[in-house]
Amino acid sequence: MKIKAPVSKNEQLDVSIMDLTYQGMGVAKVDDFPLFIENALPGEELTIQVTKVAKNYGFARAIAWKSESPDRVKDVDKTYRQTGIASLQHLTYPAQLKFKQHQIAELFSKAHQDVEVAPTLGMENPTQYRNKAQVPVRMIKGQLETGFYRQHSHDLIPLTDFYIQDPAIDAAIIKVRDLLRQFEIPAYNEISDKGVLRNIMVRRGYYSHEMMIVLISRTQKIPSQAQLVDQIHKALPEVTSIVLNVNAKKTNVIMGNVTRVLYGKPTIEDTLMGLTFAISARSFYQVNPQQTEKLYQMAIDKAGLTGEETVIDAYCGIGTISLALAKHAKQVYGVDIVPEAIEDAKVNAQKNHLTNVDFFVDKAEDQMIQWQAAGVKPDIVVVDPPRKGLAETLIESTAKMGPKKVVYVSCNPATLVRDVQHFQDLGYVIDGPIQPVDQFPQTPHVESVTVLVKK
Ligand code: SAH
Repeated sequence: MKIKAPVSKNEQLDVSIMDLTYQGMGVAKVDDFPLFIENALPGEELTIQVTKVAKNYGFARAIAWKSESPDRVKDVDKTYRQTGIASLQHLTYPAQLKFKQHQIAELFSKAHQDVEVAPTLGMENPTQYRNKAQVPVRMIKGQLETGFYRQHSHDLIPLTDFYIQDPAIDAAIIKVRDLLRQFEIPAYNEISDKGVLRNIMVRRGYYSHEMMIVLISRTQKIPSQAQLVDQIHKALPEVTSIVLNVNAKKTNVIMGNVTRVLYGKPTIEDTLMGLTFAISARSFYQVNPQQTEKLYQMAIDKAGLTGEETVIDAYCGIGTISLALAKHAKQVYGVDIVPEAIEDAKVNAQKNHLTNVDFFVDKAEDQMIQWQAAGVKPDIVVVDPPRKGLAETLIESTAKMGPKKVVYVSCNPATLVRDVQHFQDLGYVIDGPIQPVDQFPQTPHVESVTVLVKK
């Protein structure tokens, strides 16, 4: 039976907002038909205009408010919402923290799971926290610009203050932009697949203040490369590493496979939990160092180590969690799919004089099968996968190895719920409340730590 949508495109109507999606959009229902509305908050009543009607849902834009939520922040800069950089900026910070706690609870309750979710651990100053920026470079009206894409598009909106980034990084981007203009370096053009400079990546150590600039280019070499590099490090005294990354493909993937050091070292250093870490351009490193320390401390506390345990850290990156745990365990094994990350991890073990850690390059799901076959008996398995969550085979080989605890660090509650259910089928139960930690203030991203124990 074909059900006709109760609204049509361009129609204007009055609605009340009943919920917020995990992407931070307001939800209104017209005869059970959901409409998603940007910049609308639960409890608000407003006039909307329908912009798109699909089979089971639609989109609308807010035209006028009849009542506003007490949780609304007024006078926000709308470019942060348009670009998606800070799409929850219009919600007060305490309400953002509640929203994140609620997101996890909702998803578990939809899966008929009765779990306790603790209040989200937030930041004291929830802006200017990111230690990394990755910005596109484009020509606009004949001038090279840096900024961010309008959401769901590749139209660049020029920006100089990115609001959630370390201001020293924002300042560095402006300096690099000005030098690129001065040396008349052509920006990449996606449509013609011509031009040179595609993106700039900047990373800055929160404690060390060491800065890395990565120039991502379509071409093997940038015009006036030597002079440009010379001017960048003269203009930015914190810079200890300038790297060229070549990405010649017509693709949305930001970095290519070739990286060349143009100045200084291939890595910058930073500290976390009193440990020193070298970080190279292509390695993953948590973007919110202040909250990362809280997140890792939580993972360490929940692991409950006595010094006698064997621990596996799957998805270990540059070995941050592995090394933090190694101080309290007998032996730690780490695995990551990115070879540069594992090279960094090995260097980092040496830097911190930790000899009870071994790192492997592989897909975690394959390495776990090998460890299981080799008879490794971990007491604790830590997993910190990307948004898509865990492979089924990883969950199965973990359960076969039978650790007494699995500590699941998740950046996506939807895949967390799915994976937890699989662990439950294999004899594990959730222990204690799930703890959300706000790694990404002003955005809808939800990070959490869950502990599973063997029944
Ligand atoms: N625990 C680390 C890294 C977490 S991010 C930290 O907190 O810094 C997730 C990591 O998973 C990244 O380093 C990424 O390279 C890695 N990764 C992604 N898919 C993988 C897979 N199939 N197998 C192993 N590692 C993978």
